[in-house]
Amino acid sequence: MKNMKQIVVMLGGNLPGSAGAMTSAVEKFRVAGVQDIRCSRAMSSAAEDCIPGTPDFLDMALVGRWGGSPQELLELCQKIEREAGRPAIHSSRESRILDCDIILFGETVMDSPELTIPHPRAHLRKFVLMPLVEIAPDILFPDGESASGKLAAIAER
Ligand code: ADP
Ligand code: MG
Repeated sequence: MKNMKQIVVMLGGNLPGSAGAMTSAVEKFRVAGVQDIRCSRAMSSAAEDCIPGTPDFLDMALVGRWGGSPQELLELCQKIEREAGRPAIHSSRESRILDCDIILFGETVMDSPELTIPHPRAHLRKFVLMPLVEIAPDILFPDGESASGKLAAIAER
């Protein structure tokens, strides 16, 4: 297909069943047309910005190529979250079976009410950058810095 963009989606979750939901999600992205998928290991980290006692999260980076629009990819992410059993109404940092966030969409930079790309907090989060660096250390953010460069920058702090 023409005009395929390289995309990065982070899959995460912190409930019993999240690991299985992440594995099923990868297959659903493939069936929906994401090509050349590569995934990191699922890495565990303590919950950040959540209420005390929130279970640890698993996070996995998915890299692939997608021929649709950013909006269509967001709709696919949200459909896969719903199918995993995530309630339609939920608050942002509560425990969840599955979260699918778009981190990068080619060199696209956008900021609309429903979609900000690159994901606004990705470059600050070790739990995003570590899985991404495992599979795509040289992938570039639109500002020209690589994933491994961004990880090194936060590791220094
Ligand atoms: P979080 O991922 O911060 O825990 P949610 O999964 O509940 O929160 O997402 C909240 C909203 O974030 C979604 O309804 C979506 O419209 C919006 N959003 C903005 N940018 C992105 C992005 N890059 N990837 C996924 N969702 C995004
Ligand atoms: Mg999300």
